[in-house]
Amino acid sequence: MTARVIDGKAIAAALRARVAERVAALGYRPGLTVVQVGDDPASAVYVRSKDRAANAAGICANTIRLPADITQLALLAAIEGLNADPAVDGILVQLPLPSSIDTAAVIEAVDPAKDVDGFHPVNAGRLAAGHPALVPCTPLGVMKLLEATGITIAGARALVLGRSGIVGRPMAALLLAANATVTVAHSRTRDLPAECRRADLLVAAAGRPEMVRGDWIAPGATVIDVGINRLPDGRLAGDVAYQEAVPRADAITPVPGGVGPMTIACLLENTLVAAIARRCG
Ligand code: NDP
Repeated sequence: MTARVIDGKAIAAALRARVAERVAALGYRPGLTVVQVGDDPASAVYVRSKDRAANAAGICANTIRLPADITQLALLAAIEGLNADPAVDGILVQLPLPSSIDTAAVIEAVDPAKDVDGFHPVNAGRLAAGHPALVPCTPLGVMKLLEATGITIAGARALVLGRSGIVGRPMAALLLAANATVTVAHSRTRDLPAECRRADLLVAAAGRPEMVRGDWIAPGATVIDVGINRLPDGRLAGDVAYQEAVPRADAITPVPGGVGPMTIACLLENTLVAAIARRCG
């Protein structure tokens, strides 16, 4: 068996085009403001690509760059200003923040209605309760990849490897809402390979390069690799040993070019959704 490769780039391009069409029909440009604190080069690259993609979709994107030594109070005041600005539909605070800043307090300062990252506890709670919410972009992107590939989720045994607030937990909630039978694995899980082998659908989000080996994968499973890990030689690797997984899986996402492109596309969609909800009630 050779797995079908799920083309995240193409699926994300189609989603971006759909968002652009819907934005064009609105009669106004939704506003997205990205807050970048400090000058971490990786963050700067992400922020620039978010900005470019948003503007290309007709969204009015701005980046506020604040110094690394900004005080907590000044950062919270900047966010308050964005909460109050009627032209701003979406606020995204680029993580990680400097260690002097209380990240949880900053996330909680964002108006939940403008929380296009879906990290605010109000949105996390709504998602966990099965209510409509702004959903974190990466797990939302995974759901859209599965949908576009025609993978059946209802009734599937899904294993989510990782339980972070930005990927693992919301991923598990979305799969549960789509009627999968969900197991969440983490660093204290006993016999992780055996847990993985039981899964029809394996979503790896552990941040450990190539930790999921080929023989952890049930023949015919769908494998979604969220991991993005920089190897010492500069290459990018996922959390799944891709070459070992391809002969076992039915469908698999590559790294790069799988989940990654969906994250930004879903940010654009979340901004559109937030704009419509705020402006049209
Ligand atoms: P975190 O470090 O916040 O969470 C990692 C999770 O994996 C934790 O729950 C941890 O368990 C678990 N874990 C770590 N090591 C092991 C292990 N050896 N065995 C079992 N479980 C383990 O990472 P994130 O969720 O933020 O990100 C995960 C990966 O996804 C990273 O590679 C990141 O770069 C990537 N990512 C990709 C995005 C994209 O756009 N494609 C967006 C966001 C993230 P425990 O809770 O017990 O510590």
